[in-house]
Amino acid sequence: KVCLVHERDHARYPPKCNAASDFPALFRWVVDEIKRCPSREFRRMDSILDADHKKISPMRPQQPQQQNFEVDWYLVGLIKVETKILSLVNDASVLAAPGMAEFLHMLFDRLAFNLPVTNERGPPSSSCCRSPQTREATLALLKTLCGSTENVSALCHLMLGCHYDLSSEGIPRKDLLHEWRVDPNEKRKSVTGFVGMKNQGATCYLNSLLQQFFLIPALRQGILSCRPVGGLDSDEGKDEGLYETMLRNLQRLFGNLLLSERRSYDTKDLVKSIHGYDGQSLRPGEQQDVDEFFGLFCDRLETALKPTPQKDILKDVFGGKISHMITCQECKNVSERVEDSLAISVDVQGKASILESLQLYIQKEHIQGYNCDKCQAKRDAVKRCCVSF
Ligand SMILES: [Zn+2]
Repeated sequence: KVCLVHERDHARYPPKCNAASDFPALFRWVVDEIKRCPSREFRRMDSILDADHKKISPMRPQQPQQQNFEVDWYLVGLIKVETKILSLVNDASVLAAPGMAEFLHMLFDRLAFNLPVTNERGPPSSSCCRSPQTREATLALLKTLCGSTENVSALCHLMLGCHYDLSSEGIPRKDLLHEWRVDPNEKRKSVTGFVGMKNQGATCYLNSLLQQFFLIPALRQGILSCRPVGGLDSDEGKDEGLYETMLRNLQRLFGNLLLSERRSYDTKDLVKSIHGYDGQSLRPGEQQDVDEFFGLFCDRLETALKPTPQKDILKDVFGGKISHMITCQECKNVSERVEDSLAISVDVQGKASILESLQLYIQKEHIQGYNCDKCQAKRDAVKRCCVSF
C-alpha cells in the first residue's frame, strides 16, 4: 500500500507544483511508521526508490517568479522521501544498486553543482536547486548516499571534476568563471524575461536600435531563418565575406536575446563586424547618431541578405513611399516626386505623441516664388509630404 501511495502522488502533483509539500511530508511520516511495524519488510522499497528517481530526474531549474526564486517544495519533498527511505533501509547493497551511480551523478551535476562556466551562450548555471531548502535537502541525500564506498568514490570523482579537467590528465578546468563573489542569480536573465546587450563603450545607439529590430517579430524571424552562405557547418570566417560575418553575428545576437538564460549578451563580435562608410569597424567608444546608423546598418544588412530568400525583408517591414508634392496655387498643377524610404525623421521635441510628430510631418507649407512648369512663372505654392507605408 505504501508503494501504491507513492506511485499515485506523481499523477496528482506535476513537477514544480509548489503547493505539494504536504504529501511527501505525510509519506515520510508513513515510512517512519513502518519502522515501528513488527512485520516490516523492505522488499519493495527499491521500487519506491526507482519511482522516486524517475520523478526527480526530469526536474527543470526553477524560473524566477519575482526577485526571488520560489522554493520548489515538491522537489524538496521527493528528495527527503528518498533520504528517509535510504536511511531506513540502511543497507550498502541498496545504496550501490544499479542505477544509483547515475542517480548520484544527476543529483550532483544537475541538481546541485552545475558550475558557472565562461561559455557565453549557455546559462550561467542551470542547477535545479536554487533555494536554500532544496540545496539543504540535496546535500543531506548526497551524504546518505555515501553509506556505500562505491558512492563515496563516485562523489569524490565528481567533486574533483569541479576543479580539474579529468579527461586530460587532470589539468585545471579553464572553462570556469574565475570571478570572485560570483552570484549566478546576478548573471541570470532578468525577471522581465528579456536579455540585455552589453554596452561596448558608447554603443547604446546600436543597442537600442537592435533591440527594436529584435522586437519586430517578422524581422526577427526573417533574420533568424537565414541560412549561412556556406551551410550550417561551415567554419566561421572561412569563405565568409564581411557581410555574411555581420549577418551571422546578428543572428547570434537575436538567438541569444531569444533563448539565453543570461542577463546580457556581449555584442563585441557584432560591433567589430559592422563596417562604417570608411571601411573600418565601428569604434565602440564613439557615439553615433542612431538615424545615421540606421541608414548604414540597413545598407549593410540588405547587402548581406541579397543572396538569401529574405532579401526583401527590410523593405517588407520598414519600406514605404514618401511623395513630395508641390501644388501651384494659380493653375493647381501638382508636381510630384516619389521616393522609396525605410524610415522617416520626425520632430519629437515638445510633441505630445508620435501622432503629433507625424501630423507635423505631413503639414502643408506655403512657399513663395515657386517656379511653376505649367505657368512658366514664379507662383505661390503649397508644399506637402504624403507617406504610404
Ligand atoms: Zn502654375
